[in-house]
Order: sequence, then structure tokens, then C-alpha cells
Amino acid sequence: METIISYFTTIPSLHRGFILAGGIALFWLIENISPLHLFGYNKAKHASINIFFTATTIIVNFTLAAALLFTANYTFQNQWGLVHLLPKINIWLYALLGLLLLDLIGAYFAHWVQHRIPVLWRFHLIHHTDTAVDTTTANRHHPGESLIRFICTILAVFIAGTPMWLVFLYQSLSVVFSQFNHANIQLPKKLDTLISYFIVSPDMHKVHHHYVLPYTDTNYGNIFSIWDRIFGTFSVLENSKIIYGIDTHRKKEECNSVKTMLKIPFKKDFKKL
Ligand SMILES: [Zn+2]
Ligand SMILES: [Zn+2]
Repeated sequence: METIISYFTTIPSLHRGFILAGGIALFWLIENISPLHLFGYNKAKHASINIFFTATTIIVNFTLAAALLFTANYTFQNQWGLVHLLPKINIWLYALLGLLLLDLIGAYFAHWVQHRIPVLWRFHLIHHTDTAVDTTTANRHHPGESLIRFICTILAVFIAGTPMWLVFLYQSLSVVFSQFNHANIQLPKKLDTLISYFIVSPDMHKVHHHYVLPYTDTNYGNIFSIWDRIFGTFSVLENSKIIYGIDTHRKKEECNSVKTMLKIPFKKDFKKL
């Protein structure tokens, strides 16, 4: 554990880049060998749009990284936050509880809020406009959403009081898990169901990308699936019945162009869900 702590305390940006690129490459390869859906799409063109939004996400996170570092250091020095209320426990258990807290506040709750508050939904909607969900969809976030998510992460770190190594560990795991559950792959059904009791499985997250309510407003989880089960937002829908996209924005010219998608949140005639 000491090695993990010291590695993630000072993880170089280059290594974080490798984790992101390595995950995309791995799942991209598996998608090519055994895809869930044969979209019949231009995979490279589709990826180029999502990679653009991944790049803007990286830029937003990189630019504001100092604020996150400051928050984690502040909570650590002032013994502030929920993890400081814990009694002296095993370091692995401490790490698991810290990851659970970051996942609940900074991911599950932040995602739920983005579906509830209209102005936030305007930005998050871009993630839902993808009509061919694959591993590159994981970071298809409007720069406005990347900023909203970053603020939510800071709030989560402030409330949880987790040290920086745990934040970096969470973010690294989050990247790979998100690529995994967006990947256009199919696990054996029993295996998918089994893991969905603990973590967000590919079949579970795909339901969130079904184009109509109520499914769009379910399965908000990021790494751990328990929050959806605890808060009653868990749902199941067969893969064969899932249609990706969002009913209010289904025009191809709108959802397959970076330029038009960047403008969607600011449109006066924006259609609500
Ligand atoms: Zn969503
Ligand atoms: Zn998604």
C-alpha cells in the first residue's frame, strides 16, 4: 500500500495520459474483436469528435489542477472532512471508504444534479447525444460540463477530506472504469449481472444512454453501482431494446459536429428533456 500511496501522491501527468490512452486503446481493440453492436459507422470519425471533447476535458482539468491540489492539502493540514472522523483503521479499508465517498459525492450525486438542474443539463446533454456509444464516449463532455464536474470534484474532496493520493487514485480508476462501461462490448450476461452488484457494468451504464425517459434518469453511477441501488435509481433494460441518443436532440447534423454541439447549451430555443 505504501508503494501505491507514494506513486499516486506524485503521479506524473504523463502517466495519467498513458492510463487514459492505454484504456482507450485496450477497449478499442476488444470492441473491434467482439462488438456488442455493429453500428456501421465511421469509427475513426466518431472517435475524432469524442477525442476532441476528451482533449478539452484534459485542458480544463490541467488548467485548474492547482485548485484541487490546494483543497486536498488544506483538508489534510486542517484535519477537515469526513475521513478524519474515522477511527484508526486498516489503510486498505481507509482507501476503500475514501474512494466510496469520492464516488458518491463527486460522481453519483454530481451526475444526478446535472440531470435535475436545467442549466447543468444543457451541458451534460452533449454526453447523451452520442448515438453510437463506445469507449470513446466516456469523456465526451462539453467543456462547460468538464468545469462543472471539476467544481463537483473539489466539493467532494472538501467534504470527504481525502488526501491527494486518494484523489489521483480515484481519478485514474474512474477513467478506466468509465471507458470499460461505455465500451461497445458484451460480457457474458451472468458475469455482467454479477459485477453490477458492486461496480457499474457495461450493460448497466448503457441503459442510462437509452434515448427516452425514464431510463435516461437512472443508473447514474460512475465506478460503484451501489448508490443507484441504495437511492432507487437502478434500472434494467435489455440491450436489444436500447436506442442510444437523446429524444430532444436526434438530428445527425446537430450531434455529429463539434461546432454545433459546443453551441447547444447556449441556444435560446433549447428543448428540455
Ligand atoms: Zn447522464
Ligand atoms: Zn455515459
